[in-house]
Amino acid sequence: MNAPANQRAVRRHNVGVVLRHVAGRGPRSRATIAHETGLNKSTVSSLVTELIDLGLLVERGTERTGTVGRPGLVVDVAGAGAAGIGLEVNAGSLAACATDLAGTVLHRGYEAADGRAGPDAVLDRLAVLARAALEDLKAQGVPPVGIAVAVPGLVDTEAGLLLLAPGLGWERVPVARELAERVGVPGLPVTIDNEANLAALAELTEGAGRGLAHFVHVSGEVGIGAGVVLGGQLFRGAHGFGGQFGHMTVDPDGLACVCGARGCLETRAGLEALLAAAGEDTGEGGALAGDRLARLRARADDGDGVAVAALREGGHWLGVGLAIAASLLDPEAFVLGGFLAELAPHLTPAADEELRARLLATQRERPGILASALGPEAAARGGAVLALRRVLDDPGLAGEVTVAREVPV
Ligand SMILES: [Zn+2]
Repeated sequence: MNAPANQRAVRRHNVGVVLRHVAGRGPRSRATIAHETGLNKSTVSSLVTELIDLGLLVERGTERTGTVGRPGLVVDVAGAGAAGIGLEVNAGSLAACATDLAGTVLHRGYEAADGRAGPDAVLDRLAVLARAALEDLKAQGVPPVGIAVAVPGLVDTEAGLLLLAPGLGWERVPVARELAERVGVPGLPVTIDNEANLAALAELTEGAGRGLAHFVHVSGEVGIGAGVVLGGQLFRGAHGFGGQFGHMTVDPDGLACVCGARGCLETRAGLEALLAAAGEDTGEGGALAGDRLARLRARADDGDGVAVAALREGGHWLGVGLAIAASLLDPEAFVLGGFLAELAPHLTPAADEELRARLLATQRERPGILASALGPEAAARGGAVLALRRVLDDPGLAGEVTVAREVPV
């Protein structure tokens, strides 16, 4: 690489360092940024100017407790600089969520839909949600930088390929390419990821996992998945196939599972298992699952003995699963999402008891069990976070997204 090209590469790298620093640590002065990143002050000043020109940073007020030099103007991420769009495909619903770099939600979309209707019909509807988000962002004057789709299954993220989603009945669907074609905005990248991973990313940046370095997000959707955060980073394993929390064996001689194995956690603490144990109709999941879940929660809240006992039993099995994960990973906390968050008040006491019984001897610091506050949009919100990472990794892209500002109607 010749010298000027090398300098450009270093500058492109450093501009990302400054943006990520401010996005991660909050508003601060140029002098503080220089001190904390180890870059020299004049370099930081010039990089900040570039980021302001790109619309990614803004100046606001002065720093009160400036420890380095004179108090200076504080720079902060500019909300309107870029937006990420997250979409989610679930068995009973489709969702959309767009956020800006400051984490503000700019758009929400939701549609009850049967995810098992087949990829063509579902992706047509998903594209409609995506275009509504793009038009809303256009009206707000915030340029979109990408779309990330959360799917309940195994994913090849590099290829944008959904390999297998048993809950949807989908196999080898090139979701990223199919959706990009339907959305029809050249230059706007579309990626996909597992819903539990994206929900964990949302928890890490905006939810219950904020400030935690090591936690496991256990997501109750069609099945039970897990997103593992270690050292502040999403842990994906060798092939991205980890996090199959619901198919860990908790009861070796137990019930047969849809996956072909026996005694998986899902056969004891999955939504259908809990509904069946509580005497609710065993419907075919889909859009009705939400209604049956709400009814179960209401019955347990009212002290219905059968419902309370079913959730207590489910909580016990959940605790067995959490104890296995805790022994292996030593997380600071578990964050329950999806139906597990909805039922958390009734599941957590027994799960916590189980965790305490199984970990007492080896771990003095038991991980806490927290319920997600992000609700059903967690995975879509994580998709928006992932889409925005593109700009945090390479802020120069924000200057190149003008093509994506034009949404053909
Ligand atoms: Zn299984």
